[in-house]
Amino acid sequence: MESHSKVDAPVADYQPRPRVLVVEDETNVAEVVERYLRRDGVDTTVVHDGQSALDYLSSDGVDLVVLDVMLPVMDGLEVTRRMRAQNDATPVIMLTARDTESDVVLGLGLGADDYVGKPFSPAELMARVHAVLRRGTRASSPGPVIRAGALVISSEYRTVELNGTSIELTAKEFDLLFFLASNPGRVYSREQLLNHVWDYSHPGDTSTVTVHIRRLRAKIEEDASRPRHVKTVWGVGYKFDA
Ligand code: CA
Repeated sequence: MESHSKVDAPVADYQPRPRVLVVEDETNVAEVVERYLRRDGVDTTVVHDGQSALDYLSSDGVDLVVLDVMLPVMDGLEVTRRMRAQNDATPVIMLTARDTESDVVLGLGLGADDYVGKPFSPAELMARVHAVLRRGTRASSPGPVIRAGALVISSEYRTVELNGTSIELTAKEFDLLFFLASNPGRVYSREQLLNHVWDYSHPGDTSTVTVHIRRLRAKIEEDASRPRHVKTVWGVGYKFDA
């Protein structure tokens, strides 16, 4: 009889791999980019037009979008414009055709973080990708202690103090607070919080996020009905105000 070997398998540490969305309609370019990203341990998803990119981003958070400018249905500039209009601050690296300086200027003006001119070497693109991902990692690892008003959050000791008084949080409440506080001002949808703070075993149960936000506010806000730190952004999600 076959034994239940899976039961004995070690539980993998929760260590999220960086997630990148590649938006490129040229199949051969998309394949090369995907191969290099995967080789570097990046969780990679490829879509082939602008609308599919927005659809994907509205349900799933990623750490970075590699976005071609020339795309069917909706071009990369419009994708970036709409992302930023929806307060989606996910970093964007644009792939621009050579000699289209206006696309570069426009793209960066719309909120793209970097660009690579086509034709590009995969090595160059990967260097940009890792640079942007490192910036993102730094932003979410601001050091052992975060201070925001009367709130002191220690990642090292996983403790929270409000006006010098220790606050008891559950593990997930702490993770949620620490994640939001590590990225102050950035708006996250419930789906994105579910992806970042929980693991992937909670398919789409965004009410979990709502419940944890409510409990968190009851504990860390001086007036939970008028939260100072964990703010609701109507129709979008939540953000942390320092
Ligand atoms: Ca293209």
